[in-house]
Amino acid sequence: MLLDKDELDHVAAALESSLAANDLTEYYTALRASGLPFVAVNYGGDTFALARAIRDILHRIGGLSPAVALAFENHLFVTAALATFSVNNEALEAKAKGILEKIGKERLLVANTSSRVHANKLNALGTLAKKEGNGFRISGSAAYTSLSTQSDLLLFVTRTEDGRPAFFIAPLKNQPEIEIGPYLFPRAMIDSDTRRIEFHDLYVPEESLLQSGQGKDLLLLNQFELTWHMTMIPSMYLGAAAKAVDEARKFLRSVNSTEGKPLAELDGMTVDMARLAIKYQTAKTVLDRAIEELGQETQGVLEPERVRRGFERAAMTKYVGTTYAEEIVTQARRIIGARSFTAGQPLERLSMETLFGALGPEPGAYIERLIGPTILGEAPFLG
Ligand SMILES: Cc1cc2nc3c(=O)[nH]c(=O)nc-3n(C[C@H](O)[C@H](O)[C@H](O)COP(=O)(O)OP(=O)(O)OC[C@H]3O[C@@H](n4cnc5c(N)ncnc54)[C@H](O)[C@@H]3O)c2cc1C
Repeated sequence: MLLDKDELDHVAAALESSLAANDLTEYYTALRASGLPFVAVNYGGDTFALARAIRDILHRIGGLSPAVALAFENHLFVTAALATFSVNNEALEAKAKGILEKIGKERLLVANTSSRVHANKLNALGTLAKKEGNGFRISGSAAYTSLSTQSDLLLFVTRTEDGRPAFFIAPLKNQPEIEIGPYLFPRAMIDSDTRRIEFHDLYVPEESLLQSGQGKDLLLLNQFELTWHMTMIPSMYLGAAAKAVDEARKFLRSVNSTEGKPLAELDGMTVDMARLAIKYQTAKTVLDRAIEELGQETQGVLEPERVRRGFERAAMTKYVGTTYAEEIVTQARRIIGARSFTAGQPLERLSMETLFGALGPEPGAYIERLIGPTILGEAPFLG
């Protein structure tokens, strides 16, 4: 079995006690000692097993903290994409294989950044790579890097001097030329360890370059990574939604109405809970289907058209899963009431963190504009 359920239980227990202590050291120690970060390194060619394992890990950790799960998800989607990217490009695939071997052998964690910055134009990249001797000099900043202080490596996208994008990988720990800044989300999403980073003329050798240019392989790699990312994102937010439903169930079974009847026996509550369960099951079914299709698509050499369709499906899966998860957590909180925010109640954390699902990696506004034009052509909707 690729995923050891006992190990997942152990890591989840460490996370629970870490969250209670407000210190994630115990969790990260357990996580690093486990096989969970290395499922993509050890997947042995079974892409279905890999996709299911990542879904199950994130659903479980997300039920405790979507922020903590999001940090780990970054490592998982990057390693899964590197492990399953196959486009008949020997040089690129050899590099990806080398990175994975290093991650497995040295038990490393990897963060990633698209180098997006908050500028007056959407999708602006804040970093630049200039050719220098046998390597590159990287400067500029990136607004978002989750798992930043825990990671050993950083996979990043940057512009090169000719304005084209490039993928690089570099060590992240103890690098004076990479300044890991303060938390980007200092309250609600603090445990995602998302920080702004600055590159102060970091020199990287040629081998750090994974792929550059406007060729099809770079676009495919970018789309393929995002397909893994957006397919997996709903797993953790639906984990949070499932936990919220269960908290509402416990509340309704343990508290009576003023007439002395258990709240769980009131018809209105039955209907409210049914709505939550139906939404959860619907989004989970969409997710499970997407996971199976991802497992199917990642077998063998990737074709651009298949990757494009997979990307659209991942975007829709992410849209449905995160929207429903947020609605479910909100409704569960309303059922439980003010005690949702009392000490020790998981709903407080889940409420604050679940609303981030809709905000990234791609916001709803982008996904709607991606899908809208595909149904407004001359062909009938289901044609
Ligand atoms: C908690 C968290 C952790 C993250 N961690 C990482 C990380 O580790 N690495 C990383 O690279 N990135 C990370 N990101 C960033 C993420 O991948 C996205 O880049 C980011 O969430 C996009 O959100 P934004 O508000 O910056 O988007 P923007 O593109 O700035 O959009 C802002 C708003 O503009 C509007 N808009 C956007 N696009 C369109 C459009 N096409 N048409 C019309 N209106 C539009 C929408 O109203 C949208 O909400 C993280 C994000 C979050 C929230």
